[in-house]
Amino acid sequence: MNIHEYQAKSLLKQAGIAVPAGCVARDVDAAMKAAEELGLPVVVKAQIHAGGRGKAGGVRMCRALEEVNRAASGLLGHVLVTAQTGSEGKTVHTLYIERAQPIARELYLSLLIDRDAEAVALVASTDGGTDIEEVAASHPERIFARPLQHGPSDVLPDLADFLSLPVGQVEPLVGSLYRLFVDKDCSLIELNPLIVNDQGGLVALDAKIAFDDNALFRHPELEAMRDPLEEDPREREARKFGLNYIALDGRIGCMVNGAGLAMATMDIIQLKGDRPANFLDVGGGVTEEAVAEAFRLLLGDVHVRSILVNIFGGIVRCDIIARGLLEAVKTHPMRVPVVMRLVGTNEQEGRRLVKQAGLDVRWAGNLDEAAEMAVAAAREGDPS
Ligand code: ADP
Ligand code: MG
Repeated sequence: MNIHEYQAKSLLKQAGIAVPAGCVARDVDAAMKAAEELGLPVVVKAQIHAGGRGKAGGVRMCRALEEVNRAASGLLGHVLVTAQTGSEGKTVHTLYIERAQPIARELYLSLLIDRDAEAVALVASTDGGTDIEEVAASHPERIFARPLQHGPSDVLPDLADFLSLPVGQVEPLVGSLYRLFVDKDCSLIELNPLIVNDQGGLVALDAKIAFDDNALFRHPELEAMRDPLEEDPREREARKFGLNYIALDGRIGCMVNGAGLAMATMDIIQLKGDRPANFLDVGGGVTEEAVAEAFRLLLGDVHVRSILVNIFGGIVRCDIIARGLLEAVKTHPMRVPVVMRLVGTNEQEGRRLVKQAGLDVRWAGNLDEAAEMAVAAAREGDPS
C-alpha cells in the first residue's frame, strides 16, 4: 500500500525526522488560509500517488497569496500527468501547503528491501531531486548502495563520507528511518530530495513510503491512511470479496485458484504469445458470491478479449466456480469467449451446470491446450 507525501511526512515527524511545516488543503480557501498561517513563501504540492510532480507543474512555489489561489485552483480537481502516472494521469483531490525551504544541497536517501541480499538496503546519492534511475544509469559512481545485514551502524561512516556530512548528523537520521522501516513493515521509504538547508540541517523535502500489504493487519493505524481514490477500482472491488486480484495490461482475463497456479497460467499465456489482463487467485475457501464477483470483474473489463479459467479443484469445488459464472452472467453477459479447464473436486457437476445453462464455454483438457485456446480466442477479435 502507498500513502501520500503528507501522510509519509507525519510518520517521519513522529519518528523524529525533520520535515517542513505544512497543512493539508482540500479546497482553495483552505489552501489560502494555510499559506497565511504558515507564512509566505509556500510551496503548493499536489498529493497523488506518483512522483515526477515537480516537472509536471504539480509543485508550485508561491510568493504571494494570489499565486497560492492560482496554483490551488489550477491543481484541485484537475488531472496531473507525470512521468510516473501513465498517460491517463491522476486527478488531484488534495494539496499539501508547505513552508518553502532554503536549499543548499539536494540529496537522495532511501531504504528498501533487497531480495537477493535478504536484507533492508540503503541507497543514497549526492544527486537528489532528480530521477534516481537516470543518475544510476548515467553516473553510477554517484550512487551509494549497501545491504544492511546488521542494521545501519556498519555503513554509517562510509555513508557520511560519501555524502560529505558529519557521521553525528547522519547517524540519528538513518537510525530513525531504519526503526520506522522495521516497525511499520515498510517496503520502501524514499526521501528525494533530502535537503541540506542554509543552516546545514537535514530536512526531508519529499517523502514516499510504501508498506508490505501482507503485514497491514498488524497496523490498523496505517490501514486508516489508505486513499481509495488512488487505487485501481477493480482491485478495490476485488479486495472487498477477499480475492487476490492485480490488474495488468494484457488482454486475457485469468481466473485461477492458488497463487502458484495463477503465476504458471500467466507464464504460459506469455509463452503462447499473448499477455494476461490480470493476476487472480480466488483462493481455497472461495464462495460462489466471490467467484461471481471475479467473473463480473473480468467480463466488465473492456481490455479483456478472452477469459481463461484454470481451476485445479482440491479445496475449491468446481461446481462453485460454475455457479459463480452462472450468477455473474445474469448481469454481465459473456461478451468474450470463455475457455475453461476445470479438473478435480466436483468437476462433472461443474461442467453439467454450465452446459445445462446453455453457456457457450470452450472446454480444454489441460493447461497447455487451455492457454492456446484462450490466446486464439483473443485473436478472433483482432482486425484482419
Ligand atoms: P516530485 O518528486 O514529485 O517532483 P518533490 O516533493 O520532490 O516532488 O518536489 C520537487 C522539487 O520541488 C524538489 O526537488 C524541490 O526542489 C522543490 N520543493 C519541494 N518542496 C519544497 C519546499 N517545501 N521548499 C522548497 N522547495 C521545494
Ligand atoms: Mg521528489
